[in-house]
Amino acid sequence: MSEALPLVFDAPRRGKPPTHWADLNPAQRREAVEAAGHRAFRARQLSAHYFEGFRSDPDEWTDLPIGMRAALREKFFPELLHEIKSLSADAGTTVKTLWRLHDGSRVESVLMRYPDRVTMCVSSQAGCGMACPFCATGQGGLQRNLTTAEIVDQVVDGERRLDRGEIPGGTARSGSGSHRDRVSNVVFMGMGEPLANYRAVMGAVRQLTTPTPDGLGMSARGITVSTVGLVPRMQQLATEGLPVTLALSLHAPDDELRDELVPVNTRWNVEEVVDAAWEYAKVTRRRVSIEYILIRDINDQAFRADMLAKVLRRRGTWGWVHVNLIPLNPTPGSKWTASRRRDEEEFVRRLAARGVPVTVRDTRGREIDGACGQLAAQV
Ligand code: SAH
Repeated sequence: MSEALPLVFDAPRRGKPPTHWADLNPAQRREAVEAAGHRAFRARQLSAHYFEGFRSDPDEWTDLPIGMRAALREKFFPELLHEIKSLSADAGTTVKTLWRLHDGSRVESVLMRYPDRVTMCVSSQAGCGMACPFCATGQGGLQRNLTTAEIVDQVVDGERRLDRGEIPGGTARSGSGSHRDRVSNVVFMGMGEPLANYRAVMGAVRQLTTPTPDGLGMSARGITVSTVGLVPRMQQLATEGLPVTLALSLHAPDDELRDELVPVNTRWNVEEVVDAAWEYAKVTRRRVSIEYILIRDINDQAFRADMLAKVLRRRGTWGWVHVNLIPLNPTPGSKWTASRRRDEEEFVRRLAARGVPVTVRDTRGREIDGACGQLAAQV
């Protein structure tokens, strides 16, 4: 990479979309419905259409008087995400969608269906201000924060696709009445740094985990928030009482290299971010995931595997951490490439030999640039 990009923590305030149903809590919804001249119980009906039935077409809102539907739809369900295109891979079980937001910014989301679960990778910002040189999103800078509803609606779109039977695969239970297939996992690994958009992301987590019909009724344990390591926000997250999984994008066990790969390391260094991750595990009793991209001859040497094991084990050996190795998916024009097979295997072996749980992440959707962190929203 030629010039280092600046770190941007605060998003420009422009471009906010109109308020949507998924921005409001249940009490606010009832108030808003009454303020619009309707009875409060309409709120529950609307929530059931959105969060349980995923019905965006007011013609399907048959329990509401016909004359009321269009106005309610216009007032509370403005179109936030306009589909530009969808690409699928892995025999249709991976679908990446490129969205245009109301102000013209673009974001992407990815749905991945596995035999036993459905994971949605969502964007939390349009662009990203963290400037990691290997990441496609990081190269374009930050356009703006997404709102809570812009995040939630990415998941609701995935639910709708599953509901319509558009995504093949799944279990034997698929499509059999009450055992409808649902999004089981949401990972904040699309575009953006979720902890730099803390309020909207926490709002989205709340909407995802609120029981139906007021929310999507997902388990917080199925939600992963991935961060470059904004330490004060990691500490704050630990106090929320929400058992979400925290993933820390570490990528190097030493400051010299991490300063280059994850520039925010110049603000909070390896010691500080690993301490914050360990603290999160201690407070929440949730195992933290350490993300580590493997880049050939840059961070994949045997001595760095040993160093990584040492950095993690020093905090404790009570199963507080798990290492997730990610083969680099090179961005166009990148000077870096993925590790050699044997180096990857040696890296795994060294961590495992020191008792550090480790897996290599699968590389779904590579041919459609659907891998997490690869979302660049090209036109
Ligand atoms: N900003 C957050 C979440 C978005 S990126 C974070 O950095 O954690 C989600 C994951 O994809 C991160 O671990 C990120 O480092 C990784 N990633 C980014 N670019 C990648 C690439 N080119 N190949 C493989 N993984 C990448």
